[in-house]
Amino acid sequence: MKEVNPNAAPMVRIRGLRKSFGSHVVLDGIDFDVQPSQVVVVIGPSGSGKSTFLRCCNGLEKPEGGSVEICGRPLMQDGRMLPDHDLNALREEVGMVFQSFNLFPHLSVLDNVTLGPRKLRSLSRAEAEVEARALLEKVGLAHKASAMPASLSGGQKQRVAIARALAMKPRVMLFDEPTSALDPELVGEVLQVMKLLASEGMTMMVVTHEMDFAREVGDVVVVMDGGGIIEAGAPDVIFTNPSQERTRSFLQAVL
Ligand code: ADP
Ligand code: MG
Repeated sequence: MKEVNPNAAPMVRIRGLRKSFGSHVVLDGIDFDVQPSQVVVVIGPSGSGKSTFLRCCNGLEKPEGGSVEICGRPLMQDGRMLPDHDLNALREEVGMVFQSFNLFPHLSVLDNVTLGPRKLRSLSRAEAEVEARALLEKVGLAHKASAMPASLSGGQKQRVAIARALAMKPRVMLFDEPTSALDPELVGEVLQVMKLLASEGMTMMVVTHEMDFAREVGDVVVVMDGGGIIEAGAPDVIFTNPSQERTRSFLQAVL
């Protein structure tokens, strides 16, 4: 368990977050803080709002109410988003990795990783390539720099997607079921990279069904159901002695 300074400003501060789709209330007023270097693992049944919660944390989803702050800067306040220009700037601080990789299919691995920094951080091609090669090295894919995405396995694609997100130098990384689309034998290589990031102190929010990862790498496990967070706590507590019956039955179904 990492030391968390209770006086440190949270990396992500969420208050009263509300989001509905039509009459369906998906998030009913969520309060939550993510501290610097914390790994928060979000679990819960399908449809419980995990993806919506994550998407609200980088402005991909527009909530009706509440506030989300990244490093003390509001992404949205009282349900009002920042103007697009400021929203885009703040989004660069929040990297996101999806279940479905979303690489640019017509670009090489290297160009996938350098595109964002060249366009949004105004790096030259040479500068961006130096950084990108170091990131590809970190995710174990230096030898694939000139490959096209279609030639990669799912696990390799997801590791490129992680390198691409890191290339924007985010302060927080959001992962939405990053291994759910992978063949079982490819899950480990992606979790390994995420574990490395966690050990380097990256602040992370991870939606996953990989309970071993949650136990081993998570500092806090958040359980969502029925429109909100039903409990949150250290993995040991959540997995061995949860306070909510709904957590118990969810874990029984997945473990
Ligand atoms: P989870 O990731 O936990 O499976 P989601 O956040 O994807 O849950 O979805 C929560 C609920 O919101 C689900 O009932 C889903 O059908 C609904 N929902 C999500 N996105 C939309 C959307 N764009 N339009 C309408 N309903 C949506
Ligand atoms: Mg989801």
